[in-house]
Amino acid sequence: MTEQGGPDLSALLAQERRARLAAERLLEHKSKELFSANRQLSEHARKLSDEVVVKSAEAQTYRTEAEELKGENTQVRADLQKANKQADKAERRLWEALETIQDGFAVFNARNQLVIANRAYMAMFDGLECIRPGATYQDILEIVVEEGLVDIGFEDPSAWQARMAGRWQQDRIEPLTVKLWDERYVKFLDRRARDGDMVSLALNITETIRYEEKLKEERTRAESASRAKSAFLANMSHEIRTPMNGVIGMADLLCDTDLTEEQRLFAETIRGSGETLLVIINDVLDYSKIEAEKLTLQPEPFDLERTITEVLLLLKPSVQEKGIELMLDFDMFLPTRYVGDPGRIRQILTNLLGNAVKFTTEGHVMIRVTGIGSDDGADQQRLHITVEDTGIGIPDDKVDHIFGEFNQVEDERNRKFEGTGLGLAITQKLVALMGGEIWVDSVEGEGSCFGFRITLPLDEGADTPAPLHSTDLRTALVIDAQDINRMILDRQLSMMGLRVTARRSAEDALADPPNSFDLIISDHKPPGTDGLALAQALRDRGERGPILLLCSEPGQLDSDPRMQGVTAILQKPLLRRDLFQKVGDLGVTLPAEAPLPEPPAPEPPAQADRLRVLAAEDNRTNQLVFRKMVQDLAIDLQFANNGHEAVTAFQDFRPHMIFMDISMPEMDGKEATRKIREIEADTGAPRTPICALTAHAMAGDADEILAAGIDHYLTKPLRKAAICGKIEELAPVGLSVTAG
Ligand code: ADP
Repeated sequence: MTEQGGPDLSALLAQERRARLAAERLLEHKSKELFSANRQLSEHARKLSDEVVVKSAEAQTYRTEAEELKGENTQVRADLQKANKQADKAERRLWEALETIQDGFAVFNARNQLVIANRAYMAMFDGLECIRPGATYQDILEIVVEEGLVDIGFEDPSAWQARMAGRWQQDRIEPLTVKLWDERYVKFLDRRARDGDMVSLALNITETIRYEEKLKEERTRAESASRAKSAFLANMSHEIRTPMNGVIGMADLLCDTDLTEEQRLFAETIRGSGETLLVIINDVLDYSKIEAEKLTLQPEPFDLERTITEVLLLLKPSVQEKGIELMLDFDMFLPTRYVGDPGRIRQILTNLLGNAVKFTTEGHVMIRVTGIGSDDGADQQRLHITVEDTGIGIPDDKVDHIFGEFNQVEDERNRKFEGTGLGLAITQKLVALMGGEIWVDSVEGEGSCFGFRITLPLDEGADTPAPLHSTDLRTALVIDAQDINRMILDRQLSMMGLRVTARRSAEDALADPPNSFDLIISDHKPPGTDGLALAQALRDRGERGPILLLCSEPGQLDSDPRMQGVTAILQKPLLRRDLFQKVGDLGVTLPAEAPLPEPPAPEPPAQADRLRVLAAEDNRTNQLVFRKMVQDLAIDLQFANNGHEAVTAFQDFRPHMIFMDISMPEMDGKEATRKIREIEADTGAPRTPICALTAHAMAGDADEILAAGIDHYLTKPLRKAAICGKIEELAPVGLSVTAG
């Protein structure tokens, strides 16, 4: 190395070295960059290849799916074709079926235009061309009326069309039957489908209608035959009764003659059986009268409470014999006067109460009457009447049948009771005739409760027996062993403003200090003593107030000296009106007993001769029976064979009394009585007592009879005791009828 050249060279070398180093560094840098680029490149390449793999897999899937879809599409097309074919077939079948049925079928669209209709439907229009698809329902309605295709009766055509059109507007379209021009009957059943279409079905019901008409005709014929039969039965039983009266009357007379024991048994059997037979005949007569629709109600004003009491009084003998209690609970607030058929109401009550008494051997029979004003108007009353007994009751399985004809509960306990089994059937029919209903509740061995409901108009102007508020009386003592009686009296007296204390027995009553009560009411037979003895005992210890005695046989007490202690008698069964009256009287004046109204005494005869009796009776046997029955009396008897003869005999014979048969030829007993009453009025003659002889113990008849001007009535069969009793009762004062 030179000096000159030395530095240059070394500088060059250094420069070269530096350059080389820089180149090396650059190289190193570049190779690093290259490496990183390579790495990125390879990574990218790997990613790309991955994506390619995925994409190619997807492509494969798509390819497969496309293939599958292609297959499916072909299948669907095939299925569609098949389905179309099937639908065509089904439609064809359906249509063929619709064409083959005899009933009409049509579809209308939501605008009520006819869309399709089968031949049967179109046939209704007798080939009218204007009725075809496109015609509206309204058009069709107008055309059918115009062309006379339907029978609209007497209805106005436009009214009919409006009615038919209106029918289609209903939510629920009722079936409609129309008679067509060709005598066919078609029943239209129309339904609105969900899309608004109306589907109309026209059923040919001609056969059914004809059949129904035939059935109706046959039923009418059968009913009139049955009515004719019932009428025949009614007439028959009426005819049977006349000779039966002869049989019973004669047997009755025979029993009064001297007979051996055996003969008496025979005669009494004839009489007893005759009477039983007559009861049956009367039931059959009533029943068949109702069945033949010959029974009509005869409404008139009457007092229900009194009617009930009368029935109760009739039952008194059997009740006393059995030792059972008969009670009436007539609602305090209920009016007593109504307009109804009192005879038939009495018959219903007699049947129900009669049964209750018949089937009860101990305890009580109680009739309860309640009522509420009817919804129909204030002048009507819905009456609820129940007859409750503590008798043998009715087994559950028999209860539903006892209102049927000839239905009786057959068992060993029941067989001993007589009856026809018609009573309840008649009762039910009578209640139904009055527009009411009847029912029964019964527990075997405990008792029965028969009830019925009827609505009756109130008797206008009739004053409800309002309880008179007593001013002087504040407290009352009631002595009666029967809880129910005590309860009823308590209620009734409370209505009058009295505070009531009840005692069961005389002993309990006597335990109270004297004069603790303003009024004492006692049953005539309180336990442990009798009412008169109790009254006596009360007076003896200083009782000063009024004592009223409840008694069913007031006549028996009259002669008893102990009656002095009794202020007044209350007749049992107790009539509410009587209680109010008697207690009301006490409040004002003490101690007045209201006198019983006496029947007007007939005028004394002009001259005291024998009693003249006229008997109008058309039947010879009955005349004979009558004559025999009164043969022991000192009377002059004359018969009239009909009403005319009776009127003539009334003027010629001038009888003191007349027995009048009701059903007689030419002029009946009612007519004859009217004529006799006219003659009396014209001549100013005193009223001659007339006693009707009625064939049938029918209270309905009785009221009618009394309305004709007859004063009394006796029911056939004629009974000697009744006839003789009546003659004695009606004989003018001072004229003895006893022979001698
Ligand atoms: P009958 O003439 O036999 O009394 P009904 O038609 O009046 O005829 O009664 C039918 C039957 O119903 C009676 O035979 C009896 O078995 C039953 N029956 C009616 N009322 C009563 C009652 N109060 N208690 C028990 N059984 C009764």
